[in-house]
Amino acid sequence: MSIYTGPVFEMARRQFQVIADHIDMPEDERDRLLYPKRAITVSCPIHRDDGTTAVFQGYRVQHHLSLGPTKGGTRFSKSVDIGEVAALAIWMSWKCALAGLPYGGAKGGITVDPAALSPRELEALSRRYMQEMIPFVGPHTDVMAPDMGTNEQVMAWFMDTYSVYQGKTVTEIVTGKPVATGGTVGRREATGRGVVHLAMRAAERIGLNPSGATAIVQGFGNVGLVSAMELAARGVTVIGVSDHTACFYDPLGLPIDALNRHVETHRVLAGFSTQVAADPATLLTQPCDILVPAAMERVIDAVTARKLRCRILAEGANGPTTPEADEVLDDRRDEIFVIPDILCNAGGVVVSYFEWVQDLQQLFWEEDEVNRRLTQVLDRAFGQVTARARRDDVAYRTAAMAIGVEKVQAAKRTRGLFP
Ligand code: NAD
Repeated sequence: MSIYTGPVFEMARRQFQVIADHIDMPEDERDRLLYPKRAITVSCPIHRDDGTTAVFQGYRVQHHLSLGPTKGGTRFSKSVDIGEVAALAIWMSWKCALAGLPYGGAKGGITVDPAALSPRELEALSRRYMQEMIPFVGPHTDVMAPDMGTNEQVMAWFMDTYSVYQGKTVTEIVTGKPVATGGTVGRREATGRGVVHLAMRAAERIGLNPSGATAIVQGFGNVGLVSAMELAARGVTVIGVSDHTACFYDPLGLPIDALNRHVETHRVLAGFSTQVAADPATLLTQPCDILVPAAMERVIDAVTARKLRCRILAEGANGPTTPEADEVLDDRRDEIFVIPDILCNAGGVVVSYFEWVQDLQQLFWEEDEVNRRLTQVLDRAFGQVTARARRDDVAYRTAAMAIGVEKVQAAKRTRGLFP
């Protein structure tokens, strides 16, 4: 069991402990629910452009298969290790179950800084990783998707590599592909769109009018950028944004369209403007109505949680809030409406599920249909979480995770334990 040790896995384990206690889960059931079914580690050698050979470590963790195939993103980042990947796989399980999707959670990744690779090296590494994973994945076993450091292009390489080995095109092996190669309309925007849709639901609950409201977004990749654009489209003034290269803050509002164009050209925020540059260390604690951490895990610890001055914390990233911070936020429940990650960023996996369904049927939907069904799923989950939190007098995270864990528990109980 100790192969998963590390701060991110420890966080997922502690969160699970809280839920298991809350729902009175018998002790002898806990390890079966928490620990992943499989963990795969591979070495991925590639030719570098300078003629040398480099080897990168890759991982895939499949948490449980009790509700269907596993599903989860692939992360290319320097921080990736088996513990982080396992924690992300576990969160995916609760997220999929909460949304009512027929999946267990999975996650994968490679310990690499993708920005340090040339496009050719990135393609070689993506293809080699997928090739190493072929014995362990499949459209009805484990379906990959993008995450930090990967994108539609990487998914297209994954799909192509898998298809070449099968001797036929298998679009349903990954989601988050380009629309031209079997992807679905609305997937790229789905996570950020879902984050903002739910932030608006929370705003309704606390009587906050979006026009005139302010927001800060940490992370300006897939989730952060779309969230910022959607917030601006709904009349919210985005006053702060950041990525790993720069941080901008202007209480009068930032030009989100111009920032988007800058990132399209330069890939990062750096170089946009020196006039509005700010200290990234204090961005999260600036006063605003809606705060969207959309970069990485564990950015809100207990100290930061005490200093937060937002009214809605919409968790776009996975695991941005530590269990210690949760204790602080529990005391601040009347001040800050926390939309927990497994609910808030579920839009991505929901539309990934739609993509998988469309690929299996070879029947593609219009974007209106995708968005209508997305909001339907998110609204149902939001209603369930808020009702459960009220009933049990617990934080929204506890309610959301309890619903997810109970669904997996019920599937395991009814299917039984083999042999
Ligand atoms: P991405 O790689 O597209 O973007 C990540 C962004 O975070 C980049 O702008 C990067 O510069 C920024 N960042 C990295 N370190 C930072 C730091 N220290 N401070 C500020 N910004 C920093 O990744 P993404 O797909 O947008 O994922 C972001 C988060 O959302 C991750 O936690 C991911 O697991 C989660 N998530 C993503 C999806 C999805 O569909 N892409 C779905 C659900 C959850």
